[in-house]
Amino acid sequence: MVVGMSTKVSQASLLTLKNVTMIFGSQTALHPTNLDIPKQKTTVLLGPSGCGKSTLLRLCLGLMIPSTGEVIFEGTPVTSESALELRKKMGYVIQDGGLFPHLTAYENIALMARHLEWTEDRIQSRIHELIKVTQFPEDGLTRYPVQISGGQRQRVSFMRALMLDPDVLFLDEPFGALDPVIRADLQEDLKHMIQSLNKTVVMVTHDIGEAAYAGDHIVFMKEGRILQEGSFEGIVSKPKDSFVTRFIRAQRTVSLDKLLEGHAI
Ligand code: ADP
Ligand code: MG
Repeated sequence: MVVGMSTKVSQASLLTLKNVTMIFGSQTALHPTNLDIPKQKTTVLLGPSGCGKSTLLRLCLGLMIPSTGEVIFEGTPVTSESALELRKKMGYVIQDGGLFPHLTAYENIALMARHLEWTEDRIQSRIHELIKVTQFPEDGLTRYPVQISGGQRQRVSFMRALMLDPDVLFLDEPFGALDPVIRADLQEDLKHMIQSLNKTVVMVTHDIGEAAYAGDHIVFMKEGRILQEGSFEGIVSKPKDSFVTRFIRAQRTVSLDKLLEGHAI
């Protein structure tokens, strides 16, 4: 933390958004938003396509600077000057993984560590820890992204995001491009991984089942605003807005019905 730049934030939160807005030309992607992201919990940004979930995530990562307001990460404001340094403590996984096609799985994972001039020994031992955590086959490390399945590619993306042992892991629809069976396997593994790593996770999804399954704290968004926050239980037992009810109802499935049993929705 830079001395003198600390801002008063709740001890329990890792990231705080204070009156943050994001305006693109004539479009407001995010209206004034306040949000605390709790430490060592999984926060899920949930809502329909275009409601501003990825925008909020990218603001947290310092990939975009807000039009107004402030994002504070571990007490330090995220600015265009501080973002690069702060991002070393943040892991980021996007929908299609974003792996470099001309690098092997190993080289993709090692990229940032090599840039930071870690020794090859240290890189190797970290990658060997990570293949255990993600249950990635060792012989897959020498393959290129096109030579491995979509599910394995996402495991490589997770390892890349975890390489520097970040304080927070940001996941933007990380299962969106996978078929349902692989998706279910990876979701299950990710849940165990998150539990074993004890990390703060912020995940974007439009899938209510995924939110219920993974999220300790759900942030429900619509048209660039947070409509409701709380536990999944809290939201389904007391939906604040008819849109929340409609959104959840539209995605009801048999397995979700079990989770919803006894609730008003
Ligand atoms: P979500 O992730 O919930 O689908 P986004 O955060 O990607 O939504 O987008 C929110 C709104 O902001 C959308 O209307 C989108 O078109 C707009 N938007 C996002 N990024 C940009 C950008 N770089 N330039 C212009 N408009 C953008
Ligand atoms: Mg998005």
